Amino acid sequence: MSVAENLAAVRERIAAACARAGRDPGSVRIVGVSKTQPVETVAEVIAAGVDAIGENRVQEAAAKRPLVSGATPWHLIGPLQRNKAAAALALFDLIETIHRVEIADRLESLLTGGDRVLPVFLEVNVGGEEAKSGVAPAEAAALADHVGRRCRHLRLTGVMTVPPYDPDPRRSRPHFAALRGIAADLAVRLGTGPLELSMGMSEDFEVAVEEGATTVRLGRILFGERRPA
Ligand SMILES: *Cc1c(COP(=O)(O)O)cnc(C)c1O
Repeated sequence: MSVAENLAAVRERIAAACARAGRDPGSVRIVGVSKTQPVETVAEVIAAGVDAIGENRVQEAAAKRPLVSGATPWHLIGPLQRNKAAAALALFDLIETIHRVEIADRLESLLTGGDRVLPVFLEVNVGGEEAKSGVAPAEAAALADHVGRRCRHLRLTGVMTVPPYDPDPRRSRPHFAALRGIAADLAVRLGTGPLELSMGMSEDFEVAVEEGATTVRLGRILFGERRPA
């Protein structure tokens, strides 16, 4: 199957999940996660109409994005180090992985004095896993307050999570529901409209959509297995 056929098949499965949940299928965006995939594949999925491109490493995006044209936004979905913040700003339209005050402050200071307002998501470690990035659920409110009050050049528009790995996608459901609850609390706190929910990957996106995902991040189901480095 071509990338375009894979994307069409995924859209059908999203539509079915939306029907089960009583949702509008137009409310779910697909981020094509193109890590390890060549730039030709990125161009292919953009031509097929994917909503955004997701890369988890700044350096990899730096090698690809200049070679790809078009208005499709690029999302950073991997951890951002302070020393890569300037490069990330040049490459990405949205950063999904704000998990510490220091990273928010670094981006804010780089943007200070300009007109650009960067949409960002908070990455939440819903499973409380030691080895995983993301703000602890109990600390999400404080981080959101900081971004909302102190970072005028950042606009908090969503939350993102990668739940603990489990081969059974049904086990992700409580984690997705937890993120939805956190997003609802933050929206009230910040006095914003509903926040975007970035959750669901190749194995569990249908469960995520049933639980309210507005952004799913899909790699292997669109592109096949990742390529060796
Ligand atoms: C790689 C990656 C994905 C996509 O994973 P697949 O299982 O290939 O769909 C989604 N989100 C993040 C943060 C990733 O690093």
